[in-house]
Amino acid sequence: MSRIVRPRVFVTRQLPGEALGRLGGEVDLRVWEGELPPSRNELLAEAAHAEGLVTLLTDRVDAELLARAPGLRAVSNVAVGYDNIDVRACTDRRIPVGNTPGVLTETTADFAFALLMGLSRRVAEADAFVRAGKWRTWSPTLLLGTDIHGATLGIVGLGAIGAAVARRARGFGMRVLYVSRQPRKDLEAELGARRVDKRTLLAESDVVSLHVPLSAETRHWLGRAELAAMKPGALLVNTARGGVVDQDALIEALREGRLGGAALDVMDPEPLPADSPLMTLPNVLLAPHIASASHATRGRMASMAVDNLLAALEGRRPPHCVNPELFP
Ligand code: NAP
Repeated sequence: MSRIVRPRVFVTRQLPGEALGRLGGEVDLRVWEGELPPSRNELLAEAAHAEGLVTLLTDRVDAELLARAPGLRAVSNVAVGYDNIDVRACTDRRIPVGNTPGVLTETTADFAFALLMGLSRRVAEADAFVRAGKWRTWSPTLLLGTDIHGATLGIVGLGAIGAAVARRARGFGMRVLYVSRQPRKDLEAELGARRVDKRTLLAESDVVSLHVPLSAETRHWLGRAELAAMKPGALLVNTARGGVVDQDALIEALREGRLGGAALDVMDPEPLPADSPLMTLPNVLLAPHIASASHATRGRMASMAVDNLLAALEGRRPPHCVNPELFP
Protein backbone atom coordinates (compact mmCIF):
# COMPACT_ATOMS: atom_id res chain seq x y z
CA MET A 1 0.00 0.00 0.00
CA SER A 2 1.40 3.42 -0.90
CA ARG A 3 1.87 5.87 1.92
CA ILE A 4 0.87 9.50 1.33
CA VAL A 5 3.59 11.76 2.69
CA ARG A 6 2.15 15.04 3.84
CA PRO A 7 4.25 18.17 3.43
CA ARG A 8 5.82 19.46 6.63
CA VAL A 9 4.62 22.88 7.60
CA PHE A 10 5.84 25.10 10.42
CA VAL A 11 3.59 27.87 11.74
CA THR A 12 5.46 30.40 13.86
CA ARG A 13 2.62 31.12 16.32
CA GLN A 14 -0.82 29.96 17.39
CA LEU A 15 -3.44 31.65 15.18
CA PRO A 16 -7.05 32.46 16.08
CA GLY A 17 -10.04 30.78 14.45
CA GLU A 18 -10.44 27.53 12.54
CA ALA A 19 -7.63 27.88 10.03
CA LEU A 20 -4.97 25.82 11.77
CA GLY A 21 -7.43 22.97 12.31
CA ARG A 22 -8.08 22.95 8.57
CA LEU A 23 -4.35 23.10 7.81
CA GLY A 24 -3.71 20.21 10.21
CA GLY A 25 -6.06 18.05 8.13
CA GLU A 26 -3.90 18.54 5.06
CA VAL A 27 -0.28 18.69 6.17
CA ASP A 28 2.18 17.45 8.75
CA LEU A 29 1.76 20.46 10.99
CA ARG A 30 3.98 21.91 13.66
CA VAL A 31 2.87 25.07 15.45
CA TRP A 32 5.16 27.13 17.68
CA GLU A 33 3.39 27.22 21.04
CA GLY A 34 5.40 30.01 22.64
CA GLU A 35 3.83 33.34 23.52
CA LEU A 36 6.94 34.97 22.09
CA PRO A 37 8.10 34.24 18.53
CA PRO A 38 10.72 31.56 17.93
CA SER A 39 14.23 32.95 18.29
CA ARG A 40 16.29 33.29 15.12
CA ASN A 41 18.04 29.98 15.79
CA GLU A 42 14.78 28.23 16.57
CA LEU A 43 13.23 29.57 13.37
CA LEU A 44 16.23 28.46 11.31
CA ALA A 45 16.10 25.00 12.89
CA GLU A 46 12.37 24.61 12.16
CA ALA A 47 12.66 25.97 8.62
CA ALA A 48 15.43 23.47 7.86
CA HIS A 49 12.84 20.64 7.81
CA ALA A 50 9.86 22.55 6.43
CA GLU A 51 8.26 22.56 3.00
CA GLY A 52 5.88 25.31 4.03
CA LEU A 53 6.20 28.23 6.45
CA VAL A 54 3.41 30.37 7.86
CA THR A 55 5.09 33.48 9.22
CA LEU A 56 4.25 36.69 11.05
CA LEU A 57 5.92 40.06 10.70
CA THR A 58 8.17 39.12 13.62
CA ASP A 59 9.82 36.34 11.56
CA ARG A 60 12.58 37.28 9.14
CA VAL A 61 12.65 35.16 5.98
CA ASP A 62 15.88 36.06 4.22
CA ALA A 63 18.63 34.53 2.10
CA GLU A 64 20.25 32.92 5.15
CA LEU A 65 17.04 31.16 6.12
CA LEU A 66 16.39 30.04 2.55
CA ALA A 67 19.91 28.64 2.28
CA ARG A 68 19.25 26.50 5.33
CA ALA A 69 15.82 25.34 4.17
CA PRO A 70 16.46 23.23 1.09
CA GLY A 71 12.97 21.72 1.04
CA LEU A 72 11.06 24.97 1.43
CA ARG A 73 8.40 25.44 -1.29
CA ALA A 74 5.95 27.97 0.14
CA VAL A 75 5.93 30.98 2.46
CA SER A 76 2.70 32.53 3.68
CA ASN A 77 2.77 35.72 5.73
CA VAL A 78 -0.16 36.50 8.03
CA ALA A 79 -0.11 40.23 7.19
CA VAL A 80 -0.66 42.47 4.21
CA GLY A 81 2.83 43.98 4.68
CA TYR A 82 5.76 41.67 3.86
CA ASP A 83 8.82 43.76 4.67
CA ASN A 84 10.00 40.87 6.92
CA ILE A 85 10.45 38.72 3.80
CA ASP A 86 13.16 38.97 1.16
CA VAL A 87 10.75 38.44 -1.71
CA ARG A 88 13.46 38.59 -4.37
CA ALA A 89 15.42 35.82 -2.66
CA CYS A 90 12.23 33.72 -2.48
CA THR A 91 11.50 34.36 -6.15
CA ASP A 92 15.04 33.31 -7.08
CA ARG A 93 14.34 30.02 -5.32
CA ARG A 94 10.91 29.87 -7.06
CA ILE A 95 9.15 29.99 -3.69
CA PRO A 96 5.72 31.71 -3.82
CA VAL A 97 5.06 34.22 -1.03
CA GLY A 98 1.49 34.89 0.11
CA ASN A 99 0.07 37.82 2.07
CA THR A 100 -3.38 38.80 3.39
CA PRO A 101 -4.58 42.02 1.75
CA GLY A 102 -8.14 43.32 1.86
CA VAL A 103 -9.52 41.40 4.84
CA LEU A 104 -7.85 43.75 7.32
CA THR A 105 -8.47 47.02 5.47
CA GLU A 106 -11.56 48.25 7.33
CA THR A 107 -10.37 47.01 10.74
CA THR A 108 -7.03 48.76 10.32
CA ALA A 109 -8.74 51.95 9.12
CA ASP A 110 -11.04 51.83 12.15
CA PHE A 111 -8.00 51.75 14.39
CA ALA A 112 -6.17 54.50 12.51
CA PHE A 113 -9.24 56.63 13.08
CA ALA A 114 -9.42 55.59 16.73
CA LEU A 115 -5.81 56.75 17.15
CA LEU A 116 -6.56 59.99 15.32
CA MET A 117 -9.53 60.72 17.59
CA GLY A 118 -7.79 59.49 20.71
CA LEU A 119 -4.79 61.73 20.10
CA SER A 120 -6.68 64.83 19.05
CA ARG A 121 -9.13 64.63 21.97
CA ARG A 122 -6.60 63.27 24.48
CA VAL A 123 -8.68 60.23 25.39
CA ALA A 124 -5.88 58.23 27.08
CA GLU A 125 -4.77 61.26 29.10
CA ALA A 126 -8.37 61.90 30.19
CA ASP A 127 -8.78 58.30 31.32
CA ALA A 128 -5.52 58.40 33.30
CA PHE A 129 -6.56 61.74 34.84
CA VAL A 130 -9.88 60.40 36.14
CA ARG A 131 -8.37 57.14 37.40
CA ALA A 132 -5.64 59.05 39.25
CA GLY A 133 -8.31 60.90 41.25
CA LYS A 134 -7.26 64.26 39.79
CA TRP A 135 -10.78 65.29 38.69
CA ARG A 136 -11.78 68.04 41.13
CA THR A 137 -14.33 70.05 39.12
CA TRP A 138 -15.53 70.92 35.63
CA SER A 139 -12.99 73.31 34.19
CA PRO A 140 -13.13 75.43 31.04
CA THR A 141 -9.43 74.78 30.41
CA LEU A 142 -9.18 71.09 31.30
CA LEU A 143 -7.60 68.75 28.70
CA LEU A 144 -8.30 70.93 25.69
CA GLY A 145 -7.79 69.14 22.40
CA THR A 146 -7.89 69.73 18.67
CA ASP A 147 -11.02 69.59 16.51
CA ILE A 148 -11.08 66.92 13.84
CA HIS A 149 -14.20 68.11 12.02
CA GLY A 150 -13.16 70.70 9.49
CA ALA A 151 -9.46 69.79 9.77
CA THR A 152 -7.25 68.75 6.84
CA LEU A 153 -6.09 65.14 6.70
CA GLY A 154 -2.99 64.23 4.67
CA ILE A 155 -2.98 60.57 3.60
CA VAL A 156 0.39 59.16 2.63
CA GLY A 157 -0.37 56.22 0.30
CA LEU A 158 -3.98 56.17 -0.91
CA GLY A 159 -4.16 52.39 -1.21
CA ALA A 160 -6.77 50.13 0.38
CA ILE A 161 -6.30 51.32 3.97
CA GLY A 162 -5.54 54.94 3.06
CA ALA A 163 -8.79 55.11 1.08
CA ALA A 164 -10.76 53.51 3.92
CA VAL A 165 -9.37 56.14 6.31
CA ALA A 166 -10.24 58.88 3.80
CA ARG A 167 -13.85 57.60 3.69
CA ARG A 168 -14.09 57.87 7.45
CA ALA A 169 -12.55 61.34 7.32
CA ARG A 170 -15.21 62.50 4.86
CA GLY A 171 -17.85 61.43 7.37
CA PHE A 172 -16.17 63.68 9.91
CA GLY A 173 -16.21 66.67 7.57
CA MET A 174 -12.45 66.65 6.97
CA ARG A 175 -10.67 67.91 3.88
CA VAL A 176 -8.54 65.13 2.41
CA LEU A 177 -5.19 65.49 0.61
CA TYR A 178 -3.04 62.57 -0.50
CA VAL A 179 0.28 61.57 -2.01
CA SER A 180 0.77 58.39 -4.03
CA ARG A 181 3.05 57.50 -6.91
CA GLN A 182 0.01 56.88 -9.11
CA PRO A 183 -3.00 59.24 -9.17
CA ARG A 184 -6.25 57.64 -7.96
CA LYS A 185 -8.81 59.49 -10.07
CA ASP A 186 -11.55 57.02 -9.07
CA LEU A 187 -11.00 57.79 -5.39
CA GLU A 188 -10.59 61.52 -6.01
CA ALA A 189 -14.12 61.54 -7.42
CA GLU A 190 -15.53 59.31 -4.68
CA LEU A 191 -13.80 60.91 -1.71
CA GLY A 192 -13.16 64.44 -2.86
CA ALA A 193 -9.50 63.71 -2.11
CA ARG A 194 -6.93 65.93 -3.81
CA ARG A 195 -3.54 64.63 -4.97
CA VAL A 196 -0.76 67.01 -3.97
CA ASP A 197 3.02 66.91 -3.77
CA LYS A 198 4.75 65.89 -0.58
CA ARG A 199 5.63 69.46 0.45
CA THR A 200 2.02 70.68 0.08
CA LEU A 201 0.69 67.72 2.02
CA LEU A 202 3.10 68.35 4.88
CA ALA A 203 2.49 72.11 4.92
CA GLU A 204 -1.31 71.98 4.80
CA SER A 205 -2.31 68.92 6.82
CA ASP A 206 -3.50 69.21 10.41
CA VAL A 207 -3.14 65.44 10.64
CA VAL A 208 -0.79 63.27 8.57
CA SER A 209 -1.69 59.57 8.44
CA LEU A 210 0.80 57.06 7.00
CA HIS A 211 -0.39 54.13 4.83
CA VAL A 212 2.55 53.20 2.58
CA PRO A 213 4.26 49.82 2.74
CA LEU A 214 7.79 49.85 4.15
CA SER A 215 10.29 49.59 1.29
CA ALA A 216 13.70 51.00 0.41
CA GLU A 217 11.81 53.94 -1.09
CA THR A 218 9.58 54.66 1.91
CA ARG A 219 12.09 54.03 4.73
CA HIS A 220 12.27 57.30 6.69
CA TRP A 221 9.74 58.87 4.30
CA LEU A 222 9.04 61.19 7.23
CA GLY A 223 12.52 62.36 8.19
CA ARG A 224 13.94 65.45 9.87
CA ALA A 225 13.35 67.72 6.85
CA GLU A 226 9.79 66.47 6.36
CA LEU A 227 8.96 66.89 10.05
CA ALA A 228 10.27 70.46 9.85
CA ALA A 229 8.02 71.05 6.83
CA MET A 230 4.87 69.96 8.71
CA LYS A 231 2.36 72.52 9.85
CA PRO A 232 3.29 73.66 13.39
CA GLY A 233 1.23 71.72 15.93
CA ALA A 234 0.15 69.08 13.39
CA LEU A 235 -0.57 65.51 14.50
CA LEU A 236 0.96 62.32 13.11
CA VAL A 237 -0.78 58.93 12.97
CA ASN A 238 1.27 55.88 11.98
CA THR A 239 -0.42 52.53 11.41
CA ALA A 240 1.91 51.62 8.49
CA ARG A 241 5.37 50.55 9.69
CA GLY A 242 7.71 52.15 12.22
CA GLY A 243 10.54 52.41 9.68
CA VAL A 244 8.53 54.83 7.52
CA VAL A 245 9.35 57.45 10.16
CA ASP A 246 12.79 58.57 11.38
CA GLN A 247 11.92 57.96 15.01
CA ASP A 248 14.81 59.97 16.48
CA ALA A 249 13.77 62.99 14.42
CA LEU A 250 10.17 62.45 15.50
CA ILE A 251 11.15 62.44 19.16
CA GLU A 252 13.05 65.70 18.63
CA ALA A 253 10.06 67.35 16.92
CA LEU A 254 7.74 66.22 19.72
CA ARG A 255 10.10 67.37 22.45
CA GLU A 256 10.49 70.77 20.87
CA GLY A 257 6.72 71.10 20.53
CA ARG A 258 6.93 71.60 16.77
CA LEU A 259 4.60 68.67 16.34
CA GLY A 260 1.32 68.62 18.27
CA GLY A 261 1.48 64.90 18.92
CA ALA A 262 1.90 61.44 17.49
CA ALA A 263 -0.24 58.32 17.69
CA LEU A 264 1.79 55.24 16.86
CA ASP A 265 0.63 51.67 16.39
CA VAL A 266 3.99 50.83 14.85
CA MET A 267 7.48 51.74 16.00
CA ASP A 268 11.09 51.10 15.26
CA PRO A 269 12.11 48.78 16.80
CA GLU A 270 9.20 46.71 18.06
CA PRO A 271 8.55 46.20 20.86
CA LEU A 272 9.47 49.75 21.84
CA PRO A 273 12.33 49.67 24.41
CA ALA A 274 11.20 50.66 27.91
CA ASP A 275 13.68 53.55 27.97
CA SER A 276 12.49 55.12 24.72
CA PRO A 277 11.65 58.82 25.18
CA LEU A 278 8.36 58.06 23.43
CA MET A 279 7.29 56.29 26.63
CA THR A 280 7.34 59.50 28.66
CA LEU A 281 6.29 62.18 26.18
CA PRO A 282 2.79 63.36 27.10
CA ASN A 283 1.64 64.12 23.55
CA VAL A 284 2.17 60.56 22.35
CA LEU A 285 -0.40 57.78 22.14
CA LEU A 286 1.06 54.30 21.80
CA ALA A 287 -0.38 50.93 20.81
CA PRO A 288 1.40 47.56 20.42
CA HIS A 289 0.84 47.00 16.68
CA ILE A 290 -2.82 46.01 16.99
CA ALA A 291 -4.49 47.90 14.14
CA SER A 292 -5.81 44.69 12.54
CA ALA A 293 -6.59 43.05 15.89
CA SER A 294 -10.30 42.28 15.85
CA HIS A 295 -11.52 38.73 16.45
CA ALA A 296 -13.15 38.48 13.03
CA THR A 297 -10.28 39.99 11.06
CA ARG A 298 -7.50 37.99 12.65
CA GLY A 299 -9.51 34.81 11.95
CA ARG A 300 -9.93 35.83 8.31
CA MET A 301 -6.22 36.65 7.98
CA ALA A 302 -5.29 33.21 9.32
CA SER A 303 -7.72 31.55 6.93
CA MET A 304 -6.40 33.48 3.94
CA ALA A 305 -2.81 32.62 4.91
CA VAL A 306 -3.72 28.92 5.03
CA ASP A 307 -5.42 29.14 1.61
CA ASN A 308 -2.28 30.79 0.21
CA LEU A 309 0.00 28.16 1.69
CA LEU A 310 -2.04 25.16 0.55
CA ALA A 311 -2.27 26.53 -2.99
CA ALA A 312 1.49 27.06 -3.16
CA LEU A 313 2.21 23.58 -1.80
CA GLU A 314 -0.04 22.13 -4.52
CA GLY A 315 1.88 24.08 -7.16
CA ARG A 316 -1.00 26.49 -7.76
CA ARG A 317 -0.76 30.27 -7.63
CA PRO A 318 -1.74 31.44 -4.10
CA PRO A 319 -4.92 33.54 -4.22
CA HIS A 320 -2.85 36.42 -2.83
CA CYS A 321 0.70 36.20 -4.04
CA VAL A 322 3.35 38.94 -3.88
CA ASN A 323 5.58 37.30 -6.51
CA PRO A 324 2.98 36.35 -9.16
CA GLU A 325 5.69 36.31 -11.84
CA LEU A 326 6.31 32.73 -10.70
CA PHE A 327 2.96 31.84 -12.33
CA PRO A 328 3.09 33.37 -15.81
P1 NAP B 1 -1.95 48.96 -0.51
O1 NAP B 1 -3.39 48.85 -0.88
O2 NAP B 1 -0.92 48.31 -1.35
O3 NAP B 1 -1.62 50.52 -0.39
C1 NAP B 1 -0.33 51.05 -0.31
C2 NAP B 1 -0.35 52.41 -0.98
O4 NAP B 1 0.93 53.01 -0.81
C3 NAP B 1 -0.64 52.37 -2.47
O5 NAP B 1 -1.65 53.30 -2.74
C4 NAP B 1 0.67 52.82 -3.12
O6 NAP B 1 0.32 53.58 -4.25
C5 NAP B 1 1.28 53.67 -2.03
N1 NAP B 1 2.73 53.76 -2.12
C6 NAP B 1 3.62 52.74 -2.22
N2 NAP B 1 4.87 53.22 -2.27
C7 NAP B 1 4.75 54.58 -2.21
C8 NAP B 1 5.69 55.63 -2.22
N3 NAP B 1 6.98 55.38 -2.33
N4 NAP B 1 5.23 56.89 -2.11
C9 NAP B 1 3.91 57.15 -2.02
N5 NAP B 1 2.97 56.18 -2.00
C10 NAP B 1 3.40 54.91 -2.10
O7 NAP B 1 -1.71 48.41 0.97
P2 NAP B 1 -2.68 48.52 2.25
O8 NAP B 1 -3.46 47.26 2.38
O9 NAP B 1 -3.40 49.82 2.24
O10 NAP B 1 -1.58 48.50 3.43
C11 NAP B 1 -0.62 49.51 3.54
C12 NAP B 1 0.41 49.16 4.60
O11 NAP B 1 -0.18 49.26 5.88
C13 NAP B 1 0.92 47.70 4.54
O12 NAP B 1 1.99 47.55 3.62
C14 NAP B 1 1.37 47.46 5.97
O13 NAP B 1 2.74 47.75 6.12
C15 NAP B 1 0.55 48.45 6.78
N6 NAP B 1 -0.41 47.77 7.67
C16 NAP B 1 -0.26 47.87 9.01
C17 NAP B 1 -1.16 47.26 9.86
C18 NAP B 1 -1.04 47.35 11.36
O14 NAP B 1 -1.38 46.40 12.05
N7 NAP B 1 -0.58 48.47 11.90
C19 NAP B 1 -2.24 46.53 9.34
C20 NAP B 1 -2.37 46.46 7.96
C21 NAP B 1 -1.45 47.08 7.12
P3 NAP B 1 1.32 53.86 -5.44
O15 NAP B 1 1.93 52.52 -5.78
O16 NAP B 1 0.49 54.46 -6.50
O17 NAP B 1 2.29 54.84 -4.92
